[in-house]
Amino acid sequence: MKLPEDNYLQQGRRKALMELLRQKGIKEAVLEVMMKVPRHYFFPSTFDVHAYDDKAFPIAADQTISMPYTVAFQTQLLEIKPLEKILEIGTGSGYQAAVLAASGARVFSIERQKQLFDSTKLLLQNIGYSDIKCFYGDGYKGLPTYAPFDKIIITAAAPIIPEDLKQQVKVGGWIVIPVGDEVTTMKKVTRISETEFVEEDFHEFRFVPMLGGKAK
Ligand code: SAH
Repeated sequence: MKLPEDNYLQQGRRKALMELLRQKGIKEAVLEVMMKVPRHYFFPSTFDVHAYDDKAFPIAADQTISMPYTVAFQTQLLEIKPLEKILEIGTGSGYQAAVLAASGARVFSIERQKQLFDSTKLLLQNIGYSDIKCFYGDGYKGLPTYAPFDKIIITAAAPIIPEDLKQQVKVGGWIVIPVGDEVTTMKKVTRISETEFVEEDFHEFRFVPMLGGKAK
C-alpha cells in the first residue's frame, strides 16, 4: 500500500518540534527516532496541521494521543536497546507504539477499547509497523503468555502500580508508569530481584485514566 504523504512542510514542522523537545531536555537518541515517525499519520487528516504542536489531541473513543514531550520523556526513561521486548498499556492512536518500534524494540501493545484497537491495528499495518503486536484486552492483567518483558510502559493514569505487571517485567528491567488521578507523577519502577522493586519519581504529567476491564 502507498504511504500517506510526508512532505517538506510536515518534515519541517517535525524538525521544529524536535528542537523544542531538545530545549525541554530530550536527548539526541530519542529525537532521532521521533524524527523518523510522522506524527500526522496518527491524526485524522483534517487536523493534521496540529500534529507537530507539543500538545495532546483528542482521537476516537474519547481518548487522546499523548503530547510529544510526554512520549519523548517516557521513551527516554525506557532506554531501549535493539530487540528488547517492550509491553505498552494503552495503544490509543498507536503513535507511542510506533516510536518504540522505531527505537528497535519488539513491541506488544494492549488497548481496552475495541473500536480503537481495530482502527489502530489496521493503521499500524498500513503505515509500515506490522511488526507491532496489538492485543485487545485489559492492561491491568498484562500479557502473561508473552511475559517476561524487558520493560513495560503504561500510557494512562494508573491509580496503583498493577501487581500483574510487576510480575511480568524481568529482574533488572523496569516499568515506566504515571501514577495518580489525571495529574500524575511519572515513576520508574525497577525490579532489582524476584521480590524487590525500587521506585524513582520524576515530574508531573497529565493522562486519561487507566480503566479496568475491556470496553466494547
Ligand atoms: N499510547 C497512546 C496514548 C493513548 S491514551 C498514544 O500514543 O496515542 C491512553 C489509552 O489507554 C486509551 O486509548 C485508553 O483506552 C487506554 N487504556 C486505558 N486503560 C486501559 C487498560 N486497562 N488496558 C488497556 N488500555 C487502556
